[in-house]
Amino acid sequence: MLYDNHGRLINYLRLAVTDRCNLRCFYCMPEEGIKYMPKKELLTYEEMERIVTIMAGEGIEKIRITGGEPFLRKGMLDFIGRLSRIKGINQLNITTNGTLTRDLVPHFKEAGISSVNLSIDSLDPERFKDITRRDNFAEVMETFHLLMEHQIPTKLNAVVMNGRNIEDLIPMVQLSEHYPISVRFIEEMPFNGTGKGEDLLWDFPKILEHIKAQFPGIEKLKDPKHSTSFNYKVPGFKGSVGIIAAYSRLFCGSCNRIRLTPQGMLKTCLYDDGVFNIKNILRAGASDQQLLATLKEALNNRTKDGFEAEANRKLNFPVSESMATIGG
Ligand code: SAM
Ligand code: SF4
Repeated sequence: MLYDNHGRLINYLRLAVTDRCNLRCFYCMPEEGIKYMPKKELLTYEEMERIVTIMAGEGIEKIRITGGEPFLRKGMLDFIGRLSRIKGINQLNITTNGTLTRDLVPHFKEAGISSVNLSIDSLDPERFKDITRRDNFAEVMETFHLLMEHQIPTKLNAVVMNGRNIEDLIPMVQLSEHYPISVRFIEEMPFNGTGKGEDLLWDFPKILEHIKAQFPGIEKLKDPKHSTSFNYKVPGFKGSVGIIAAYSRLFCGSCNRIRLTPQGMLKTCLYDDGVFNIKNILRAGASDQQLLATLKEALNNRTKDGFEAEANRKLNFPVSESMATIGG
C-alpha cells in the first residue's frame, strides 16, 4: 500500500491521456487554444499501461481517464479495456465532454468502464455554445441519454460561473428528479490557460444557499470516504446533488489521489506544478523498482494541502496552465 508523509492512503490515479481538446471551455482554455505537446512527448499507451501495472501492484485500485478530451486519442476504448483488466484495478472511471462518444457508449461496459463523469455546464444550447465556444450541445445530450439507456452510473460535472450558467443550477438539480445521476457543481479554479484568475464569487456556501432557496427540504447525505463533493438529495428525487469546493480546497485532508499528466509528469496535488517526470525516467531505462522508489520518495514529500502546493510552485505562479494539461 502507498501512504504519504501525512498518513494518507494513496489508492487513486487520475490519468490525463491527452492535452488535446475539441472544445474551448473558457474556464479551461483560451479561445485560440493552448500550445499542444509534440506527440512524441506524450506518454504512449504502452508506457501508461506499464505505469498503471506497477502502481496497481502497490495498491492503486482506482483509475480515472481524463484529459484534454480522452476520446480524441485513437484506440482509446481498447486502451481503457486493457487498463481495466490489470490485476488490482477495481474501478475504471472516465471524464469526458461527451461530444465524440455516441457510437462508443454501448461498448463502455464491456470495456470495463465503471462510471462516467460527463461535463455539461448548461442545459441551454446557446449558453452551452457560449461557454464551450463550440456548437456540440446535441452530441453531449445524446451521450447523456445513451448513458441512461445503458444504465451506466453517471455524474454530471458543471463548473459554476458567475454570469454564465447560474440560471442552469436549478434545472440541473431538477434533472436529478427523474434520472439516477449525481449532478455536481464545481467551484471554478484558475486553471484556464491565461494566468488571469478572478476572485471566486460562487463558492460552496453560495451555491448551496442558491439551491436551498429553491429546494428548502434538500437533505445532506453521508459523504463517501475520500469524497471531494458534499452531497445532498431532494427527497423523492432519483438522483443526488454534489458540490465540489475545488477552489476552497476543503477536501485535502482525506486526499487519496495522485495525477499523471499527458507528458508523464507526476502531480501529488492538483495545485503543484509537478514533482517528477515519470516518462523521462522510464525512457532513460529505469526498472520497475527504480520507478517505484522515486514514486515513494515523492509521496514522502507530499504537501499538506493545495494551498501549500500552490505556494511551493516554481514554474507557473500564479497558476496559469490549462486544466486540459492536468485532467481536473
Ligand atoms: N475534456 C473532458 C471533460 O471536459 O470532461 C475531461 C478533461 S476536463 C479538464 C476535466 C474536468 O475539469 C471537467 O469536468 C471540467 O469541467 C473541469 N474543469 C476544467 N477547467 C476547470 C476549472 N478552471 N475549474 C474547475 N473545473 C474545471
Ligand atoms: Fe476540453 Fe474538458 Fe477543457 Fe472543456 S473542460 S476545454 S472539454 S478539456
